[in-house]
Amino acid sequence: MTDRIKRPKKENLPTKICATCGRPFAWRKKWEKVWTEVRYCSDRCRGNKPAATT
Ligand SMILES: [Zn+2]
Repeated sequence: MTDRIKRPKKENLPTKICATCGRPFAWRKKWEKVWTEVRYCSDRCRGNKPAATT
C-alpha cells in the first residue's frame, strides 16, 4: 500500500505530508498565510507525536 499515487491535474493545490500520520493533505484557505509552516494535517495530528520507532 502506498499513498504515492499520482493524481490527475484536477486542482493545483499544493500538498504536504503530515509529520504525524504521514498522509498527504492539501492546501487550505485557512493556511494561506502560514502554509510554509504547516506540518500537520489537523489539530489532532498537531497535538500528537509521531509513532516512535522501535
Ligand atoms: Zn495527520
